[in-house]
Amino acid sequence: MGKTVLILGGGTGGVVAGNVLRKTLKKKHQVIIVDRNDYHYFQASYPFLMVNQRRPAQVVRRLEAVQRKGIEFRKADVIQVYPEQHLVETSAGMLGFDYLVISLGAEHHLESVPGQEAVAYNPYSFEGVCRLRHELWYFTGGNIVLFISNLPYTGVIAPYEIIFLIDAFFRERGLRQQVTLTLVTPEPSLLPLAGPKVGESLRRMLEQRQIRVLTQAKVLSLDPVKRHLMLDGGISIPGDLFIGIPSHWGPSVLCNSNLVDDSGWIEVDPHTMATRAKCVYAVGDATGIKLPITQAWGPKAGVFTHYQAEVVARNIASVIAKKSPDFRYTGKAAGVVMATGFGSGRVASVKYYARPYPRVALLRSTRIAYWTKIAFEKYWLNCWL
Ligand SMILES: Cc1cc2nc3c(=O)[nH]c(=O)nc-3n(C[C@H](O)[C@H](O)[C@H](O)COP(=O)(O)OP(=O)(O)OC[C@H]3O[C@@H](n4cnc5c(N)ncnc54)[C@H](O)[C@@H]3O)c2cc1C
Repeated sequence: MGKTVLILGGGTGGVVAGNVLRKTLKKKHQVIIVDRNDYHYFQASYPFLMVNQRRPAQVVRRLEAVQRKGIEFRKADVIQVYPEQHLVETSAGMLGFDYLVISLGAEHHLESVPGQEAVAYNPYSFEGVCRLRHELWYFTGGNIVLFISNLPYTGVIAPYEIIFLIDAFFRERGLRQQVTLTLVTPEPSLLPLAGPKVGESLRRMLEQRQIRVLTQAKVLSLDPVKRHLMLDGGISIPGDLFIGIPSHWGPSVLCNSNLVDDSGWIEVDPHTMATRAKCVYAVGDATGIKLPITQAWGPKAGVFTHYQAEVVARNIASVIAKKSPDFRYTGKAAGVVMATGFGSGRVASVKYYARPYPRVALLRSTRIAYWTKIAFEKYWLNCWL
C-alpha cells in the first residue's frame, strides 16, 4: 500500500523535501505540501529587492507549480500537530500521515520590541522589503539604523548584506555623504560563529565603508516620538529611518506538543533531523540546533535547510524502500555568498559541526561571487518550483 509523506511548509525545506521525495519514491506513494501562502518566497534575494536590483515578481513563485511534478499542494493553515496519532489539524481539515516533515520556518514577533512594529521597516518580510525599497528610493539624507532585535535570527549573513547594499546604493547615487549608517547587534562580535579572524575582516570592511557598528547591544524599545532606539545600559540611538530584524520564535502551532525545547525550537537529532516522535522529522529555521561544544545556536540559513531536507527526504525514501536510512547531515556548506554591493560578493564555506570550533572561511569580494548568487536564485526558482 502507498505511504503518505506530509510536509508542513512550502519554504526552502518543504520544497526541497517534496522534490527529492517525489523523485525517489514510487508513484503509489503520496507527497503533500501544506502551506498557508499561495506563494514561495526566495528570501535570500530580499536584500537585492530592497535596493531595486530585483523586482518583486522575480523572487516569488506560485506554490501550486509543484503539482506539475506530482507533488500535491494544499493551501491551509497548520493549526495543531498530533505526532503520536499521526494527524495534523489544518484549516482545511485533518490530514493523516505515515511520515511527517516539519519545515514551518521561524515566526517573526515584532511586538517583542515595543515600538518596532510602528516605526521600523521589516527587511525579513516580503511586504516589509517592498515598503523599505520605496522609502530608500526617496530618502535623501539622515541616520539609518539597522538593528537585530534578538538571537537567533535567520540568514546569518543577511544583516551585513543589507547594510553593505544600502551603503553602495547611496554611494552610486552620490548621496552617501548625507547618510550615516549604523548596525546594532546583540552578538558579542561580528559573525561570532566564524571566529575572530573573519569577524575582524568584516569589521575592517564596515569601517572602510564608514558603517558604525555596535555589538553586545540589547534592544529594549523604539521610541516613536523621539525616534530613538533604546538599548540596555541607557544608550539611545537617534534615527531617521529604522530597519529592524524581528525576534524569531519557533512555530507557535507546536508549543503544546512535546516536539519543542524550552525555548520553543524543535529538538532534533543534529545528523538525522529526527524529532522525539517516531516518523516525524523537522528541518530548517524551526529547529534549534546547538553547536557541539559551545552550545551556542547553530546558524539558520537556506543552504543548511536545503541539505537537512535532502537528508530527511532520502532517509524517508530509504525506509519506505526497506533500505537502511544512512544519509547524515554534517553541518557543511560551500559557496555561500555574502553580497557586498557594487556587483560583488564574498564566498564563504562553513563547517559548523567541526570540533572544537566551527570552521568558516570568508574570501575577499569578487564579481563572480555576486553573479553566482544571482544565478543560484534563477536556478532555484526554475528548477525546484
Ligand atoms: C532577508 C533574508 C535573507 C536571507 N539570505 C540568505 C542567504 O543569502 N543564504 C541562505 O542560505 N539563507 C538566507 N536566508 C535564510 C533562508 O531564507 C531560510 O533559512 C530558509 O528559508 C528557511 O527555510 P524553512 O523551510 O525552514 O522556512 P521558510 O522558508 O521560512 O518556510 C516556512 C514556510 O512555512 C509556512 N508556514 C509557517 N507557518 C505555517 C502555518 N501555521 N501553516 C501553514 N504554513 C505555515 C510559511 O508560509 C513558509 O512558506 C535569508 C533569510 C532572509 C529573511
